[in-house]
Amino acid sequence: MGHSQALSFKRPSSIEVSSVTITGNKGLCIEEPLIFEQDTSGLSGTDWPDIALVTSHIGDLARQTIGLPGLSEPQVVRHYTRLSQKNFGIDSGFYPLGSCTMKHNPRINEKIARYFSDLHPLQPQSTVQGALDIIATLAKWLTTLTGLPAVAMSPAAGAHGELCGIMTIHAAHAAAGQSQRHIVLVSESAHGTNPATAAACGYTVRTIKATPQGRVDVDAIKAALDENVAAIMLTNPNTCGLFERDIVDIAAAVHAVGAYFYCDGANFNAIVGKVLPADLGIDCMHINLHKTFSTPHGGGGPGSGPVVLSAALAPFAPLPYVVFKEGAHQLVEHLSESPTSIGRLKGFHGQMGMFTRALAYMMSHGSDGLRQVAEDAVLNANYILEKLKNHLSLSFEGPCMHEVLFDDRFLKGTDITTLDFAKAMIDEGFHPMTMYFPLVVRGALLIEPTECESKQTLDQFINMMIVLADKAKSNDAAYFAAAPRFTPRRRLDETLAARQPVLRWQSERD
Ligand SMILES: *Cc1c(COP(=O)(O)O)cnc(C)c1O
Repeated sequence: MGHSQALSFKRPSSIEVSSVTITGNKGLCIEEPLIFEQDTSGLSGTDWPDIALVTSHIGDLARQTIGLPGLSEPQVVRHYTRLSQKNFGIDSGFYPLGSCTMKHNPRINEKIARYFSDLHPLQPQSTVQGALDIIATLAKWLTTLTGLPAVAMSPAAGAHGELCGIMTIHAAHAAAGQSQRHIVLVSESAHGTNPATAAACGYTVRTIKATPQGRVDVDAIKAALDENVAAIMLTNPNTCGLFERDIVDIAAAVHAVGAYFYCDGANFNAIVGKVLPADLGIDCMHINLHKTFSTPHGGGGPGSGPVVLSAALAPFAPLPYVVFKEGAHQLVEHLSESPTSIGRLKGFHGQMGMFTRALAYMMSHGSDGLRQVAEDAVLNANYILEKLKNHLSLSFEGPCMHEVLFDDRFLKGTDITTLDFAKAMIDEGFHPMTMYFPLVVRGALLIEPTECESKQTLDQFINMMIVLADKAKSNDAAYFAAAPRFTPRRRLDETLAARQPVLRWQSERD
């Protein structure tokens, strides 16, 4: 009896709960000042021996302070622990960013990577044969999974891989006496790094528009192709989450005028183990190890973007690369050994820690497991598509690949924007999806669940999205304008922060 009473207990609605606290802290979530604001000058976490008297030879130039804050060790530990708890990452919750492939980083990868953490890149090659073997083995997996014969391992991200690929294509055209080729075709839905790369390499960017079905316009490509075109840059599956069905036909047309086909492989997660990019006619493609192959990313690094290359492009690949000669792995590091190479793009040999993690991921999944990654990623995205298509506005007819694109037509007639909607998602404990990208639809909501999310997580997300969409359609604009309510900071002036970032603490002493 007493038991059932306890279960039916309801909090009296008359109790007013103020959200203001004496300290500014909320529950055990501590309001954190900057480390400089916690400075107690002269305090140090370490006992230093007295410094012997020295005679200064630099007079007025001697600094009185270098401005480091004085804190005890426990203060420093608490500061950084609290900051880390304010961070949201793939380990804290669902992170459905479209195009970015925010998937789980398996712990086995971390364990394996630790085994190699004390190597130095300048060690004699005879002492790092195991590490060179990892680079060579990963290269073998990448060429096997793409069907292309060569791979440049050193690029440090997808964007860096694009630079590598377009420089390689530029060198191949130059070697063939084709320097008049000054145009690169880029699809309208492309990631901004595609036109940026082409422009950085001195090319004129020509944009190919999308069809109403969200794919590239093949006729527009064919009309734009001539002997002045160096390359086309296409993403497949594209950033609308759709497979470019005419890709083989497009590749043939590109090759017929002597141009190269660069594929942005950021979305390889949807087709890994299912399709060989070489069979699609691709000459060059970057692979984001931090997307498809589960190495950690976010916060600007460390990424890794190896670039697979056709036989025609391979002689121009950057340095260094690993060859197996006279019974040992050897690094080819100098132009004297590889005179047609575009040279070095990065210090040392690439992101060794990421190579190790990616190879651990591949070997723990096996070839059948990698195929299942693609299948499950596509299944999860289509589950979301089906469940949400009558509540949000689906931009293009399904089925989709690994990500699903909605736009803001479902918010029409309300005073609510995609941004407001995303802020309300944060209150519900979900990192928002990619917004306002791709640019081919208005107010985009691009959702990529990846293969890692359970049905429970997806159902919770879907139910939350349905309730929020209903709330939005009832035009409860004030509710959305006030979101997020429960974050340590609420709406920030993001434009001002991007245009006038304050990157340096200035104390009164300065
Ligand atoms: C992520 C991404 C890139 C850039 O890759 P980074 O590794 O972030 O430099 C390029 N194109 C597409 C479609 C992407 O999703």
